Amino acid sequence: MVRTVLILLGAPGAGKVTQATRLAESLRLPHVSTGDLFRTNLSQGTELGQKARTFMDAGKLVSDSLVIDMLFDRVGQPDCAGGYLLDGFPRTVAQAEALQQRFDGGEDRVVIDIQVPDELIVERIIGRQSCPKCSAIFHTSFNPPTSAGICNHCQTALTQRADDTAEVVGTRLAAYHEQTAPVAEYYRQQGGVCAVNGNQHPDKVFEACQVCVTEAAA
Ligand code: AMP
Repeated sequence: MVRTVLILLGAPGAGKVTQATRLAESLRLPHVSTGDLFRTNLSQGTELGQKARTFMDAGKLVSDSLVIDMLFDRVGQPDCAGGYLLDGFPRTVAQAEALQQRFDGGEDRVVIDIQVPDELIVERIIGRQSCPKCSAIFHTSFNPPTSAGICNHCQTALTQRADDTAEVVGTRLAAYHEQTAPVAEYYRQQGGVCAVNGNQHPDKVFEACQVCVTEAAA
């Protein structure tokens, strides 16, 4: 059985969560977000959450071994047996290599790189609000919820992520350029990356991502 493994690359604030949510739904793939897995561990007070906290609060990447073990544990669960969508992983070349080694040849790998210029990222991130219950993302200016501060989908009070601040965004962007941008290059050398302009309406970004998926399957 061929398993689709869809990998979404892009800087923080590029729109990965929004697109991952829509793509996972339309392709019926489990949405696996390493950031969400860490946040769940944090809120549950696990040892892994404690270890990750310092890195996350500072906007730095958590060490490869912690992320890889956590991710493999998640994608080893039965719901991922038919494929999965990765959001926020891999973020280093070592993570990409570890994932590649785990593959057994039955995967149909699709890599999409959502590209947004740095100067737009800061504004996008510091106005971002997310729903702690259903993970929906809003933006105070670009995509405000119908009632200020309340999730449109489940009426939960929206929160700002601890790392979505002007102070931390610079470190997150630096980590992206130093450690994650080479991942796109790794996949380019490995057979292909579908680049999508993330600086357009989310519906258009979604359409472009769908074209990437269709072309990869052709
Ligand atoms: P995200 O929600 O994807 O922006 O992730 C939030 C934070 O979790 C990041 O800033 C990192 O500290 C940590 N994190 C998530 N995914 C990874 C990963 N693949 N490698 C290292 N750290 C990660």
